[in-house]
Amino acid sequence: MRMTIPEKDRSNDINEYITGTHMFCLVILFSVLIFDNNKFSNNIYPGINVKFCVLLIIISCGVVLLYNTRGYFNSKGNRSFYCLDYIYVSFPLLVAILILFISEEYILYREVVLFLPIFVAASLMGKIPGLIMSTVCCIVMTTYNINIMNQNFYQAINESIFVLSSMYVAGWFIGGISDIELKHRKQLAHMANTDMLSGLYNHRYFQEQLKRHFKKVSENNPLSLIIVDIDYFKHYNDGLGHVEGDNVIKIIGGILRDEIAKPGFAARYGGEEFVAVLPGCSSKKAMKIAEGIRTKVENQSFYGGNYQPGGKVTISCGISTSPTHAISSRELIKQADYALYRAKNIKKNKVELYFSVFDDLELGENEKELINSIKTLVSVINAKDRYTYGHSERVTDYSVKLATKVGVAEDDIKLLQYAAFLHDIGKIEIDRDTLNSPHRLSEKQWTSLKQHPQWGSDIVKSVSTLTPIVPVILYHHENYDGSGYPQGLKGQDIPLLARIVRIADSYDAMTSHRPYKRNLTPEEAIQEIERCSGTMFDPILVKHVRDVIFKVSPSEKQINPNGLNL
Ligand code: GH3
Ligand code: MG
Ligand code: MG
Repeated sequence: MRMTIPEKDRSNDINEYITGTHMFCLVILFSVLIFDNNKFSNNIYPGINVKFCVLLIIISCGVVLLYNTRGYFNSKGNRSFYCLDYIYVSFPLLVAILILFISEEYILYREVVLFLPIFVAASLMGKIPGLIMSTVCCIVMTTYNINIMNQNFYQAINESIFVLSSMYVAGWFIGGISDIELKHRKQLAHMANTDMLSGLYNHRYFQEQLKRHFKKVSENNPLSLIIVDIDYFKHYNDGLGHVEGDNVIKIIGGILRDEIAKPGFAARYGGEEFVAVLPGCSSKKAMKIAEGIRTKVENQSFYGGNYQPGGKVTISCGISTSPTHAISSRELIKQADYALYRAKNIKKNKVELYFSVFDDLELGENEKELINSIKTLVSVINAKDRYTYGHSERVTDYSVKLATKVGVAEDDIKLLQYAAFLHDIGKIEIDRDTLNSPHRLSEKQWTSLKQHPQWGSDIVKSVSTLTPIVPVILYHHENYDGSGYPQGLKGQDIPLLARIVRIADSYDAMTSHRPYKRNLTPEEAIQEIERCSGTMFDPILVKHVRDVIFKVSPSEKQINPNGLNL
């Protein structure tokens, strides 16, 4: 069912009535000109004279203006008028004056022509403009009676008192109805755009406005998006109940509203997730804003907050910016969501900016296409195995850091990026149940899973530019002591890049959250890797893992001096 208020439809409906009224004015005007025999009796064809031509020009301008009518109601349900709209409203008045004063004699339907401008002004603009137009029309009517009908002022008022008062009643009544309609319309628009619990805008408004802002994005006018998710909120609800949970959503909604300055806005995306749209904001500025929100929530006291795993209610934020990270609004949401998952996986109560391993690569036109198809394949795997969201990107990140640390040549690092990103591509052949199974795998499932390096290398083999990375994918599950698969290679027989991916892959698997197992802390994971040095992993590489994992980059220092940079 369509839930949005159809702004355009509404505007078109109004235009239909404006057009109808204006056409009616024109018909009356032509009737006056054509049948005014007294005035045009000497012409071959009644109506062809200078005045008539002038009138035609004015009318043509009016019609052109008419068809350029712009939006009447804005998305908040307010009337929004542009300069031209005032001209449309004044158009029937102009026609009425011309009819009355050009014909220069008594005409039967003079009241009718003066009622039209009142109808148009009152119905489109409301009671006050309607009454103003009524006053103008009363003045025109009285002037007409005095100048054309040669009445004195007293007669002019007295003889038309019924018509004059009717004009005021018409302006008041139609304008009043129009104002009531506007009030209800505003209430409806507010309800349709607002999330009643948090008081922020809702998902519908967010999507609509994000698309609108996205159209204005350029290099000089970036658009940033922050996705906010409450940490361990299920835990809070389970412990303290949904009523208290709702209160947390309300308070965090209030913080977001206070922190996001116009033209940006915050909305509730759904559940315990919020979004902030920041037009004209770079990644750096968005990081600062998100960090401000995170700190404010961290310092806010919530009922029962001390029972939360971190001792307080906290949030995590993911950020992405267009055009740097995304070329469509959909992609922008996806990238911010990915950054959020990174924040959640590293450690909650954190702000993370989107990054892509391929962002820094200088790619030729052909390579760009290739990377896009590779990304699509990887996103298929991510969709299948939902608990390893972002796994390929993280493994790439760790692999590159480890390779740089041990002095791998630059060209090989480029290859490593492709290989690490694609190391699990063979999993595309494995069914969803096996990938997401919380239980011990059966013999059959295990045999199938063990084939993914072989299947992955078969897929990659078909792309000629990717042939150098085939061995890395094929051997990324080989163990240093020869106990791995698929071929049981040993020691230095395993390619160096495959040995690097082996460590990065294992580290990420250990530290990633799974519903059925507790994830290890970075320290615990490193200890585990060190324990398996020489059996699973290359001992020379293992020596550098601690340095790579606990290295703090300058940008990280700025945000969180004690944080880990993974
Ligand atoms: P994480 O730190 O990984 O985000 O874990 P989480 O528990 O916050 O996330 P999860 O997605 O497992 O749970 C989200 C919870 O949010 C589930 C539901 O109880 C709660 N929730 C969603 N919408 C509402 C709401 O409108 N009111 C309340 N009280 N709770 C809500
Ligand atoms: Mg969530
Ligand atoms: Mg959550």
